[in-house]
Amino acid sequence: MTAKTLAQGAVVNVLGDDGRVFGTGTFNAKSLIAVRLLDPAADVALDTAFFAKKLQRALSLRETLYDAPYYRLANAEGDGLPGLTIDRFGDTCVVQVTTAGMESLLDPLLAALDEALGPVNVILRADAPARTLEGLELYVRAAKGDAGRIAVEESGVRYFADLEGGQKTGWYYDQRDNRAFVSSLSRGRSVLDAYCYTGGFALAAARAGAKDVAGLDSSAPALALAQDAAAANGLRCKFVKADVFEELERLWAARENFDVVVADPPPFVKSKKDLEPGAKAYRKLARLAASVTAPCGFLLLASCSHNIPLERFLSECAAGISRAGRPARLIRQSGASGDHPVHPMLPESAYLKALAYMLD
Ligand code: SAH
Repeated sequence: MTAKTLAQGAVVNVLGDDGRVFGTGTFNAKSLIAVRLLDPAADVALDTAFFAKKLQRALSLRETLYDAPYYRLANAEGDGLPGLTIDRFGDTCVVQVTTAGMESLLDPLLAALDEALGPVNVILRADAPARTLEGLELYVRAAKGDAGRIAVEESGVRYFADLEGGQKTGWYYDQRDNRAFVSSLSRGRSVLDAYCYTGGFALAAARAGAKDVAGLDSSAPALALAQDAAAANGLRCKFVKADVFEELERLWAARENFDVVVADPPPFVKSKKDLEPGAKAYRKLARLAASVTAPCGFLLLASCSHNIPLERFLSECAAGISRAGRPARLIRQSGASGDHPVHPMLPESAYLKALAYMLD
């Protein structure tokens, strides 16, 4: 049998020329990453018991880290489950499958999820653009129950997320620790949350006692959720629909500034070939964001691009801040929260980088 005749997503043993065993995985001739390894032994049954064991291990990490059932339960390669992420919102799980292999294993996977957690609602968000690279169709449907808008509690703030229509799985758990850090800086200070989505950083800062909080985003549905959450928490924040680059230029020209500025944009480097233009965009964003940071203020710059290495992101941010004429100190360098484990051999899986500076 040749590789071309294997069904899309077929379970295979992976062997070296010399017969050395690499493990059990899935195969997809349509993808540049043809094989996804799920286990280091050959002939492993990828059945309900297999997934139940992986999910139990993933669950035990999250239960150690968090005291409420709101977290990323499965983080792809970082949890030994390439092609799969699961975000848990209490008794609702949002399952995102991005490989043909994982798609073909959906039945045992969902049975295992039932065994491990017994969620009431399971939403399949099969609409990630990466699926097209695997030759998979895009869809969103409930495997069980339904969801829509739900509440997420984080650090004493009640946020809203739209699990079926929102971006990615509806909520960004990865920034949890960084939101807590920014809120620790925000008391009595003015705060600008650029690319605020449903108000993550903005509302955390307002809850911590920030004096003026503004959020910018281009998505009207995300801003509506942010606004509703502000009202539900009795917090005052101004959410504005705007293009961040244009609005930062305008604020800079108007000599307006903020004591704390957060810029957490969508990925500017979506694939390796976008590295140069994407890196330039990060530099420009750093320059503009630094320009609207008040003297002795704080600036948090984030990147969620898998395809820009940390060193490059650091140097682009440094160049941008310097171009703004602002002497700065890097005070914290961080990534995603602990529910986003990283595969040690896959540096790209540490996609989130967050750099906090204090500016003169
Ligand atoms: N900081 C957020 C997550 C940000 S995700 C949190 O903590 O939850 C990136 C956001 O950038 C998305 O909400 C998207 O709508 C927004 N966005 C993308 N391009 C934009 C642009 N040009 N101007 C403003 N917002 C933009």
